Amino acid sequence: MDASLLALFWEGFELDRYELLDTHSLLVTLKPDPARPPRCHRCGQASTLIHDTHRRRVRERDLFQYRVWLDVPVRRVRCRQCGPRRERIDWLIGRQSLTCAMVNWVEALVRLMPVKHVAELLGLHWHTVKAIDYRRLQREVRPVDLSRVRRLIMDEFALFKGHRYATVAICADTQQVLWIGEGRSRAAVRPFFEWLGPKGCQQIEAVAMDM
Ligand SMILES: [Zn+2]
Repeated sequence: MDASLLALFWEGFELDRYELLDTHSLLVTLKPDPARPPRCHRCGQASTLIHDTHRRRVRERDLFQYRVWLDVPVRRVRCRQCGPRRERIDWLIGRQSLTCAMVNWVEALVRLMPVKHVAELLGLHWHTVKAIDYRRLQREVRPVDLSRVRRLIMDEFALFKGHRYATVAICADTQQVLWIGEGRSRAAVRPFFEWLGPKGCQQIEAVAMDM
């Protein structure tokens, strides 16, 4: 493995060594790049005063047939302005156990296939993938503005191979999903209209539904 090639991915660090954990898992140990002093997480100021260092093991994107774990020496700097602060690492945000590249990869895949399949493909826990997708949706999906809803589409879909049903309410003008509830009866969709409120209901001009 060429250390200078890998330095492309982990700014501020370079390859120290690597070892095979098993036939399909690779542990890559990083060391600080001496040419780049760590920066304070809060203010971004570079500092050469190291308070302490602790090693973190995080998951990186796969490399060929290998699952890749990184062993990263994360330092705390003694910032002149902020006191002891964890260093800022642009490719490893907060306390996440996955690098940003890995999170981005998960986000790309959950757009294409179900959470369960992404988890299996990448060897991650279902909850890990779900949490990443949830944060992506919170970031990307606009909050529902009920005051603008005039025309509704309501449809039902099968859950669990058709033994149970759910109903979805969509704004016909924006195609935004407004509400999903289990069941397809009149009683099952009542919570939607309660949520919409008397004012919201009065604004509805048309509802499209099958059957
Ligand atoms: Zn600082």
